[in-house]
Amino acid sequence: MKFINNINEYQSIHQHSDGFFIISPRNYNFIENNLDCQVCGFLLLQNDDVYVEKFSCCIKCGLKWAEPNRDSWLNGWRPDDNEIKVEILQRKKSLININV
Ligand SMILES: [Zn+2]
Repeated sequence: MKFINNINEYQSIHQHSDGFFIISPRNYNFIENNLDCQVCGFLLLQNDDVYVEKFSCCIKCGLKWAEPNRDSWLNGWRPDDNEIKVEILQRKKSLININV
């Protein structure tokens, strides 16, 4: 791939388990799990930053579960696996609808 040849001595490249490549500063302590929401597993985006810092999750999980259950969330409560699976399916359906 051509872009890989453009990496300089200050950058390093990592391949995410989903197949895409991530270019980061060479001294960055790369941990793949930091790229995904710890609740839903979706890739974290820049607009998730506030919720990552406050609740260690993406904005969607923050609005759906963390904010309404703030005290429980900060004490370690998380939605059960089935509830998370339902939410993930709904998000995937909404993504499909947007692309149609
Ligand atoms: Zn999430």
